Amino acid sequence: MQAETIKIKAIVTRAVPYRESDMIVTLVGVEEGRLTATARGCLKPKAKLRYAAEPLNFGEYVLSGKNGKYVVTECNQIESFSAVTADLDRYYAAFMALEALDKLSREPQPRIFMRTLTCLGDLAYATDKDSSAIVTEFLKDILTESGNALDFGHCGVCRCDLEEEAYFSDRDGVVCKHCKSFDSIPIPPDVRSYICGRPADVQTAAKANILLSNLVYQMTGVRIGAHYFTEQL
Ligand SMILES: [Zn+2]
Repeated sequence: MQAETIKIKAIVTRAVPYRESDMIVTLVGVEEGRLTATARGCLKPKAKLRYAAEPLNFGEYVLSGKNGKYVVTECNQIESFSAVTADLDRYYAAFMALEALDKLSREPQPRIFMRTLTCLGDLAYATDKDSSAIVTEFLKDILTESGNALDFGHCGVCRCDLEEEAYFSDRDGVVCKHCKSFDSIPIPPDVRSYICGRPADVQTAAKANILLSNLVYQMTGVRIGAHYFTEQL
């Protein structure tokens, strides 16, 4: 079978050393979803494709291969997002976002891909925004783009305006105390109003992000950033 050459816009979500100087990179393509490729010789000093095997690198990759076994032959970098390394919180948040994209991209997810780029761009350059607020936006975006948008302002059953405590149930989404069922997850009032866009302290934001990552797990089956979220508390 003839080797094929494909050109894809992709981001590196993981990279592990292989043999003496190669790396196996996991790429998520905008239109292709997740695939793996070998970046040959990139651990050698002065290797010209070193950056193409760095997690967070976003670029136009040229891959050649067959039967899903690819080798990176070229990469034109579009963005490195390397500014996130200046702050440890932002760095960890960026890796949480990469992990989410990786795990959700068994099938191509162009919209989640774009939301991930926005999140990484904000973490790298929007220094006026708090990293936990950027993560909150990202988690809400994931819920929306995976077809699980939640309304935190109104009860999913009786449609009343939510004011005090609220609850999450698999079946009905976010509901009021009158409509909750025995196994609903409680959502504290400060967490709920923060998710609706009102200001909150860092602790509340951290709790909200744990809750949202839990809801992502409940609704998509994908567990993300377990370590990242508990570290924030
Ligand atoms: Zn209700």
